[in-house]
Amino acid sequence: MQYPEAERPEMPEYVDMNERRWRVVPSKIQGAYGCADYNNRTVTINPDTNMSMTDEIDTLVHELLHVVWYEMGIRAKKEANEEYVVTMLARGITQLMLRNIHLVEYFVHATLHERAARQYEDEGGEDEEYED
Ligand SMILES: [Zn+2]
Repeated sequence: MQYPEAERPEMPEYVDMNERRWRVVPSKIQGAYGCADYNNRTVTINPDTNMSMTDEIDTLVHELLHVVWYEMGIRAKKEANEEYVVTMLARGITQLMLRNIHLVEYFVHATLHERAARQYEDEGGEDEEYED
């Protein structure tokens, strides 16, 4: 895998979950780095180019965890509980990714492998483990 130096990547424009598409939109928000709008399936991220890449990753992971929370039907007794859990999980996952690029590479490779296996099955291939 190649690592372009110092090139800040564009944020993804969408994520798909449970057969639904959530848009990821860069837009100014007052008093927050980001927010997840369940009604419009939109994740808004404050487009702050002064934000460190770590903080941008953390913000996107944080908002996507709200999406996961919603899509998986997780219920909290208080909104504060959801915010706390999402904040701590986002920090942990961000740290895991930044300190373990081999883990991120594994996920990318495993995802491509799974996608290829599904495509192979969809095309009428044998229903067994895909070999690459
Ligand atoms: Zn939040």
